[in-house]
Amino acid sequence: MLTNAAIVENKDGQFSIEELDLSEPGPGEVRVKMQACGICRSDLSALAGIERVQFPAVLGHEAGGLLGVRHGAPGHGHSGQV
Ligand SMILES: [Zn+2]
Repeated sequence: MLTNAAIVENKDGQFSIEELDLSEPGPGEVRVKMQACGICRSDLSALAGIERVQFPAVLGHEAGGLLGVRHGAPGHGHSGQV
């Protein structure tokens, strides 16, 4: 499945929005169709090398979207906003 992500190639680098091929959710995982995602101070700290991350990195971890649950997953049949 293709998705867009804010990627930084190296410390102090520039954000670029790139298309990534995301694997299907595995057992115990869910798919969230992202509607919006923010870049916060933690992401900027990672960019500055204050928080340890491995580059290239996909930053942005405060997001909202629509939840979809795989068939066969525990509680399957539920969906909603997250
Ligand atoms: Zn944050």
